[in-house]
Amino acid sequence: MTTAPTTAPAPAPEETSIEDAGHVDVLIVGAGVSGIGAAHHLRDEFPDRTFVILDVQDNRGGTWWTHQYPGVRSDSDLFTYGYRFKPWRGPSIAAGEAILAYLDEVIKEDDLDRHIRYRHRVTAASWSTEDRRWTVEVTRDDTGQRLRFTTGFLWMCQGYYNHAKPHRPEWEGTDRFQGLIVHPQRWPEDLDFAGKRVVVIGSGATAATLIPAIAGEAEHVTMLQRSPTYYFAPPTTHELAVQLAPLDLPDEWTHEIMRRQYTMQFDWLARTSFEAPDELHAFLIESMRPLLPEGIDIDTHFTPRYRPWQQRIAVVPDGDFFAALREGKASIVTDTIDTFTEHGIRVSSGEEIPADIIVTATGFTMSLLGDVAFTVDGEPVDFTEHVTWRGIMINGVPNMAYVFGYFRHSWTLRVDLVSDLVGRLLANMQAKGATMVVPTLRPEEADMQLRPFADPENFNAGYVMRSQHILFKQGDHEPWTHMLEHEQEREILPKADLDDGTLVYR
Ligand SMILES: Cc1cc2nc3c(=O)[nH]c(=O)nc-3n(C[C@H](O)[C@H](O)[C@H](O)COP(=O)(O)OP(=O)(O)OC[C@H]3O[C@@H](n4cnc5c(N)ncnc54)[C@H](O)[C@@H]3O)c2cc1C
Repeated sequence: MTTAPTTAPAPAPEETSIEDAGHVDVLIVGAGVSGIGAAHHLRDEFPDRTFVILDVQDNRGGTWWTHQYPGVRSDSDLFTYGYRFKPWRGPSIAAGEAILAYLDEVIKEDDLDRHIRYRHRVTAASWSTEDRRWTVEVTRDDTGQRLRFTTGFLWMCQGYYNHAKPHRPEWEGTDRFQGLIVHPQRWPEDLDFAGKRVVVIGSGATAATLIPAIAGEAEHVTMLQRSPTYYFAPPTTHELAVQLAPLDLPDEWTHEIMRRQYTMQFDWLARTSFEAPDELHAFLIESMRPLLPEGIDIDTHFTPRYRPWQQRIAVVPDGDFFAALREGKASIVTDTIDTFTEHGIRVSSGEEIPADIIVTATGFTMSLLGDVAFTVDGEPVDFTEHVTWRGIMINGVPNMAYVFGYFRHSWTLRVDLVSDLVGRLLANMQAKGATMVVPTLRPEEADMQLRPFADPENFNAGYVMRSQHILFKQGDHEPWTHMLEHEQEREILPKADLDDGTLVYR
């Protein structure tokens, strides 16, 4: 005999464990330089709006918290990498720790700590037009607890790469190597490299930063690169900053003067890379030449095969990387890896490079919008079929902005510009009494030619090229383009027409 159940059937497991975490006006994903900057501007312009910042890591800083390898530092100057609203007071190029301390000051001054929730991984975001809100699903990395926030506006400040999964190509023989293999994204706190032979695979900014930092203590460091990178060796502190120092100017003045100086310098570099790439190539090689060890093969080791600025130029403050080469503490091999061996790496020429520690400075795995699963009114969003609106919003995705910084200028210059635009957008919505804004292709744009996220002629860094297939697209005219230069955008974005018909308000 069967008996009727006396209690209601148990809810599905996923329903049982999700806790309602409440509603905020704006939900920011990421507590790196973008998320902290966004929160500053939001708080400043809309002091009455409620907001929360969610980050999966256990501390602030994003990139600067993840990367803790010896010598980690910016390769931009901190006057432009710092925010427009907060003077930088140190040398132009700064160590990771100093950048974290700067971010801590912003957090303190803006009282952001109480808005940040660490170890909160955003897994899904679902927009409901009926409710005019996002439902954001979160898993706590420490307790496994699942939470559900709702928000009227989602501000994605998640950066561009997966912090937990660095890019490491497959190489033969890694399992037989008897030393240690380390990725700079996960540097072991207690790694002892004193007296060790270290091979650093890679030639970008990370390799050029790490090598001089460990070259003194390690027995020897070999940089193993497949192909060369452009380097530029400015002084750690700009000569103009040295001249300004005795004038005892207010910090705000020095910050602004230095920002203008660096902005002009980087405008020139970016412009010259398009207009006179051969001259810029020659300039970069020639400025390196006197700093390199005598007799070194510059063609093989220091002459990149791409145009300057098609990938980031690696900054070597005061030429410290070149000094390590000159002093014989470090050396370069340009070749491809044949196999790892028990005691090092054999390259295609047959040479075996001995190693106790191998550092794979091989870059990032790109992550699209924090790997969050987006749905709009129940339909999963396949971003590859969507197009950017000014590199800030995505067509068909309501009430969502994202931050993607500059490649050729400091990332943060764009954080301030995007924040200004988002501020104008929120104010525009308020003025119209709108609760929803969605970038929408105008009828005449229905057949607009779509282009890949990045044009390899413009920028072809490995991590971007490896990920084009998962990224959204851009169109062939504004406002459906992105990755413009700062020189253009600082004119365009503040004046961008928010009522040109590409943003539909409801
Ligand atoms: C070593 C190094 C040096 C660099 N130097 C420079 C430089 O000098 N100049 C320059 O312009 N750029 C530089 N960059 C690029 C740098 O990444 C950016 O400048 C900037 O730090 C990006 O900040 P962000 O806040 O946008 O992203 P991130 O720093 O990546 O921070 C994003 C945060 O969001 C969190 N997050 C992501 N997805 C989720 C999710 N689903 N749920 C919850 N949290 C999530 C991440 O955990 C992370 O903490 C450098 C990069 C590296 C790795």
